[in-house]
Amino acid sequence: MRAAIARKRDGGALDAGVWSAIVAAHGRGGVDDAQVAALLMAAFLRGLEPDEVEALTRAMVASGETLEPLASDCVDKHSTGGVGDAVSLVVVPWVAACGVPVAKLSGGALGHTGGTLDKLRAVEGVRVDLSPERLAAQVRDVGCAIAAPGSRLAPADARLYALRDRTATVASLGLVAASIVSKKIAGGAPGIVYDVKVGRGALFAEVERARELATALVALSEAFGRRATALGSDMDEPLGTRVGTGLEVLEARAYLRGERRDARLAGVCERVALEMLRVAGFADDARGALEAALASGAAFERFERMLVAQGARSDWAERLRPHPTATPVSAERTGYLAAVDAVALGEIARALTERDGDGAGLQIAARVGDSVEPGRTLATVYGAAEWASRVGAAFTIREAPPPPRPLIYFEIGTPATRSTLDTK
Ligand code: URA
Repeated sequence: MRAAIARKRDGGALDAGVWSAIVAAHGRGGVDDAQVAALLMAAFLRGLEPDEVEALTRAMVASGETLEPLASDCVDKHSTGGVGDAVSLVVVPWVAACGVPVAKLSGGALGHTGGTLDKLRAVEGVRVDLSPERLAAQVRDVGCAIAAPGSRLAPADARLYALRDRTATVASLGLVAASIVSKKIAGGAPGIVYDVKVGRGALFAEVERARELATALVALSEAFGRRATALGSDMDEPLGTRVGTGLEVLEARAYLRGERRDARLAGVCERVALEMLRVAGFADDARGALEAALASGAAFERFERMLVAQGARSDWAERLRPHPTATPVSAERTGYLAAVDAVALGEIARALTERDGDGAGLQIAARVGDSVEPGRTLATVYGAAEWASRVGAAFTIREAPPPPRPLIYFEIGTPATRSTLDTK
């Protein structure tokens, strides 16, 4: 282990056999956390060669079971983590309502980014610790499920992730790619869509770095024989209009019921859902099928069935209310909203929900580029009113409007898949 750490520290590459032995030994308790943490820091500082990323991913997959694909058109999706990012809650039932099975393995909150599992747990009674057998049964019965990988699927990821979180080694391209892809491969879905966030609220702010990660995610997935595509979507400001566990579930519900669809959230949900149908090999008019599933209420009905199958009461939405203390945060000057600090808002929303429960968090009322004047509401704080000034500090107003930013920066995918994509 010392020799491996020294080699990586000095910029060398480790063989596949070494990665496999280290991951296996760490799982048995045969290597202590201190040495693995040192290796992670060396990998963070020196980077990993593509062969090392693949070897580490294979070792992490081999640390647990790999589910048999539930169907040849079964799909999964994964985001690299964002703020106000309720995309999974919307697209999983939406795609399932088009007849494509979705078995999604998710993670918890990381730093300022919200975790889909924490959002689901905000719904009273919902369980995410589904056994692989229960996950498979639910996907067969309901068409979709969102679950934690648990101790049987890629358990090495949970161990390594916890160490990375404690040692400030999360934002390493190779380590992120191995972490994400190991879970997706273990989950067994033959088709995978990656939503790689770009911007100040993302793991990698620069477009080129995010594109590198997206390329690595797709290439790695293909090395395991999966069909995969990735898109780069904006995370320079929160994606949806709600930030906070329960509030984001309510936003997804309102979206699927057709009550309220924020344009930014819709732009990413539509793109991701379309990609999921395409990697599933959906032969029909994918766009038309998605529109019909929303308009008929089938997508909303699937959302409700998924939650109830995972333990929610049928009246869960009446019981999950925004926190009763709502404090508006207003602009203090005239100008244009030039920036919204997604990292600060993500951290504040997390702290608010930890303090005041799942109905706490933020509602975003102004978007970058909006013209504002004194008194215009920028956001509403649900929960501790004293946080309002910190929320206000996350909004930057300038005299000139900021340059527009795209919502989708790039798309990357299997050439065979891509060539059939409707890139409208
Ligand atoms: N999401 C993951 O699952 N793993 C990472 O390392 C980062 C984001």
